[in-house]
Amino acid sequence: MAEKQGPVSVITGGAGFLGSHLADYLLARDHTVIVLDNLITGNVANIEHLAGNKRFKFIEHDVTEYIYLPGTVDYIFHFASPASPIDYLELPIQTLKVGALGTHKALGLARAKKARFFLASTSEVYGDPLEHPQTEQYWGNVNPIGPRGVYDEAKRFAEAMTMAYHRYHGVETRIIRIFNTYGPRMRPNDGRVVPTFIGQALRNQPITVFGEGQQTRSFCFVSDLIEGIYRLMMSDCAEPVNIGNPHEMSVLQFAEEIIRLCDSQSEIVYKPLPEDDPKIRQPNIDKARAVLGWEPHMPLEPGLNETIAYFRELIAKQVI
Ligand code: UDP
Repeated sequence: MAEKQGPVSVITGGAGFLGSHLADYLLARDHTVIVLDNLITGNVANIEHLAGNKRFKFIEHDVTEYIYLPGTVDYIFHFASPASPIDYLELPIQTLKVGALGTHKALGLARAKKARFFLASTSEVYGDPLEHPQTEQYWGNVNPIGPRGVYDEAKRFAEAMTMAYHRYHGVETRIIRIFNTYGPRMRPNDGRVVPTFIGQALRNQPITVFGEGQQTRSFCFVSDLIEGIYRLMMSDCAEPVNIGNPHEMSVLQFAEEIIRLCDSQSEIVYKPLPEDDPKIRQPNIDKARAVLGWEPHMPLEPGLNETIAYFRELIAKQVI
């Protein structure tokens, strides 16, 4: 009897931080995984351990261009996008293109293959929120022409496009709104708070807190997030679902925690707050609890320790 084949999953942006962890997770569940990535912010080092796995394939491709794939595809996870404020500043057009054209191409592939489509959206659709914590019903407070608008509006457009393919073409779709997530494989120099503070603390350099550090974020460990992604994809929920950790703290508290856990001599220095930096952010995850039976489990300290160990190793190997 022929061996039963597992499902075939495509991950756009699969060489990035989240995409590569998702690839590991799906391979462990007998999926065949095809990663598409143009490597502008992704890194082959995140997937090189998968080379040689017969159920894994990497294709260097810019998903804003037509995607041709032979054979069956069951699931498409659309994660391709620059994802840090510094990246959107440096790559504003690519950020808009991948959210708009890339989402269109990935949805077209889903329609052609009769595959289920999963959009990696973001808490940035809520902008600088006037509702706190943010529920999925909140429509957001986004500045369309500000520096972050290229990401926020691209993702808002991507959500609209996804719902249009769902309603008009009957494509099975899922939308996750991802809140701040951290863990190994974050890009060391992507400018986001977690790799920046850890890199600074490990080198005993000043920790650059923006503004007075009173703005808040809520940090979710990557393994919790990936579990939420999988459960959402396998659910029958076509409406957006927040996935994140509601444990909220100020950026200043976060800096102090990193200094403590890195056993660092770093001092804190204050830098100007970037334009449109959201003042507060915390997910309301009632829907994820009710619909997916999901909630985060990893507390901050062990999650950060794992992440710090990863960056320590990169520094020791002189990769960064
Ligand atoms: N931040 C900071 N210092 C840094 C980098 C970031 O104080 O060196 C702050 C930033 O202003 C924001 C928060 O940390 O309030 C989270 O920033 P990040 O770039 O990680 O992502 P965001 O949540 O803003 O998308």
